[in-house]
Amino acid sequence: MAEENELRYDPAAIEPKWQQRWAADPTLYAAEPVSCGKPKYYVLEMLPYPSGQLHMGHVRNYSIGDALARHMWMRGYNVLHPMGWDAFGLPAENAALKNNTPPREWTQANIAAMKRQMERLGLGYDWATEVTTCLPDYYRWNQWFFLRMYEKGLVYRKKSKVNWCPECATVLANEQVVDGCCWRHETTQVEQRDLVQWFFRITAYAQELLDGLDKLEGWPEKVRTMQRNWIGRSEGTEVDFFLAEETQGTEKQGTGNREQGSEKTRIRVFTTRVDTIFGATSVQLAPQHALVAQFTAADPALKAQVDELIEQQKKAREAGDLGAIEKHGVATGRFATNPYNGERVPIWVANYILADYGTGAIMSVPAHDERDFEFATKYDLPIVQVIRPEDATLAVVLPFISEDGVLVNSGQYDGLSCTEAQKKLQEIAARDSFGEAKVVFRLKDWGVSRQRYWGTPIPMIHCEKDGLVQVPDEQLPVVLPAQIEITQQGGSPLSRVPEFVNVTCPKCGGPAKRETDTMDTFVDSSWYFYRYTDAKNSNAPFDPKIAQYWFPIDQYIGGVEHAILHLIYSRFWTKVMRDLGLIVNDEPAQRLFTQGMVIKDGAKMSKSKGNVVSPDDMVARYGADAARMYSLFAAPPDRDLDWQEDGVAGVSRFLARVWRLATKYAPVARAARGQQPAAPTGLSLKLLRKLHQTIAKITLDFEGRWHFNTCVAAIMELVNEIQASDAQLAAGEVPAPAILELLRSLVLLLAPFAPHLAAELWETLGEEGNVLRASWPASDPELAKEDELAIPVQINGKLVTVVRMAVDASTKAIEAAALADEKVQSRTTGKTVVKVIVVPRKLVNLVVK
Ligand SMILES: [Zn+2]
Ligand SMILES: [Zn+2]
Repeated sequence: MAEENELRYDPAAIEPKWQQRWAADPTLYAAEPVSCGKPKYYVLEMLPYPSGQLHMGHVRNYSIGDALARHMWMRGYNVLHPMGWDAFGLPAENAALKNNTPPREWTQANIAAMKRQMERLGLGYDWATEVTTCLPDYYRWNQWFFLRMYEKGLVYRKKSKVNWCPECATVLANEQVVDGCCWRHETTQVEQRDLVQWFFRITAYAQELLDGLDKLEGWPEKVRTMQRNWIGRSEGTEVDFFLAEETQGTEKQGTGNREQGSEKTRIRVFTTRVDTIFGATSVQLAPQHALVAQFTAADPALKAQVDELIEQQKKAREAGDLGAIEKHGVATGRFATNPYNGERVPIWVANYILADYGTGAIMSVPAHDERDFEFATKYDLPIVQVIRPEDATLAVVLPFISEDGVLVNSGQYDGLSCTEAQKKLQEIAARDSFGEAKVVFRLKDWGVSRQRYWGTPIPMIHCEKDGLVQVPDEQLPVVLPAQIEITQQGGSPLSRVPEFVNVTCPKCGGPAKRETDTMDTFVDSSWYFYRYTDAKNSNAPFDPKIAQYWFPIDQYIGGVEHAILHLIYSRFWTKVMRDLGLIVNDEPAQRLFTQGMVIKDGAKMSKSKGNVVSPDDMVARYGADAARMYSLFAAPPDRDLDWQEDGVAGVSRFLARVWRLATKYAPVARAARGQQPAAPTGLSLKLLRKLHQTIAKITLDFEGRWHFNTCVAAIMELVNEIQASDAQLAAGEVPAPAILELLRSLVLLLAPFAPHLAAELWETLGEEGNVLRASWPASDPELAKEDELAIPVQINGKLVTVVRMAVDASTKAIEAAALADEKVQSRTTGKTVVKVIVVPRKLVNLVVK
């Protein structure tokens, strides 16, 4: 019993001891200067919001990044592995309301608490480069970028319909509306309001943001697909229909009289199928279209009907299923003429036409569009087929959507293929100035105004004489006032702080007012990773030379929930910074990894479900190494992980076995230092082979496969195999230098996953210096090679025997060995072997009759 007590793995003693030592060495996790001559590796986990508590999702995210960083350090890279705080945002204001704590104090206390948790987990961050986005030394550069973008025409202000969350009492970006509700308040429906807002012109980069996705081969395909859909590019044609005179019957057919009609009101429609335009049987306007207001001005009955459509659209938008809206429309009694044939078609207003997509007007071609067909059938509008399949004998069911066809009922264009017709009709529209080829994006400009306190003040001044005036660079940062009453009512809290609002106009010296909106917090996270490279710079956001060395990020790791918001904004910001001449990379991150969620009992951990597991509890019970290693072991990193406390306990027991094994044989290993190892044979060959296979596997995984769960499993197998030979090891049957190599390499393999235990055992084995500075073990391919393989032999699909073959045995040799096997012989006597299938190294199957 006494002996067992002596050999007790005690993470509660080991881990704090190493954390203290690590904290005392500021160079341990520090990136080296650009001039160090080593290859660089920038590994980054998404920075957290300082809520005050790490959750298991964080632990998983950071365990992946930390394992990778440690591995790269051991591979000899100059590693940048920073951490920071996405520290602006609404919860700080809510807390201020609730507890009367100023947002800054609340935030800083939370940061301190989470930093302690991170340190207790033993995560290897370079705290010298810490970035806290709510501090003026950071957000002054948000303001600086805002001004540079304003100068380039990438920032503008306009009145627009905005998403308004009544709970947040602020505007939300389109990206922050999820199924019609606020992204922070899952049950609060977002309202539409008209407000003057600041926008970033992200659409100026729409095409480049889309094209760039093709080159991001190190990003998950699902993220690229989500971004492609979000950007939503459609190629098509804009065409003007002309508002027909109100007096009916004067309109002549044909295209000849357009010249006289040049004064006519144009209704510009967007279509992806201009080849079907001869089949247009109505023009449909969004209820908010400017013409509709003209029509309804003198027609109260029509106005009431249109208002009804607007209401339906608003409800559908709020419910988040605009695409599934039940289609309703109203005929306006007005007509438009088709520019290609002068044909009059009725003008309708419809609730499924969106004012902010394309031109807010479409031509309706029921014969060749699903939605138009549905609408025409409902309202009894004519359906005219103008495309038929190339093979004219084929029967056609309308709507016929395919673009593999030729034009019919289309005058002089009959017989052209759809593609030819699109090109031809675009040319004519351009020639006669009634349209043009057009690319339309779903992506909208990024609304960044927030009527909040806890964000970056927008560095603009409103002067009655000069209009909008930039805050001069030398007056940055525009600092948030420290003391402020937060009520979350009645617009921007900053507007109620006269000392903040009232300012001298930098242009005319007269009295002026500051902008009181603050910036969306996604501005903060759009470029924070550049600041890490030069976090203390007070003259610039960062030194371009240093950023050029570190960028792009080699590996970025975070949740897939950021696929659209953060990851599109930060790609946009990178392109803007490049065009400002600050950086040379087009994209922020070479590779992106999105880890799965941590769930418990089949559901996402949440307070309301009562299934939250606290990292502190796990660390207290099993140690940081066990909690971290379990979070890597329990599931492939890209899948959801169902948290099982039994599993953590199991990993902890495994680490205890490693500790006992290494402690027991440490004296033998220490004594073997400097001894010449003999060529391994017998048991030592078997164990070293297993070791080198394990090294090869884990090395490969770190190079991109990232099956860390199977890496941990492989280490467990290796330890099992060594332990199974405990009696022989104790009896001295394995030479001491082999024991040294086994234990030393085992500790190195564990170092990325269980850094405290690895550090402790490294010392136990008598090694000098920090294990992080030791070289990652190299796998000896000769040693790793199996010299024999066991190949199963089947007869008619049933396993009969196993033959042992050299790894490089030929197919012929394997076949011969299988046929010569006694069991196979006895079962094939008197029968015919019809076929022998050999899967090299894997299997032999005999088909016997
Ligand atoms: Zn909200
Ligand atoms: Zn002025």
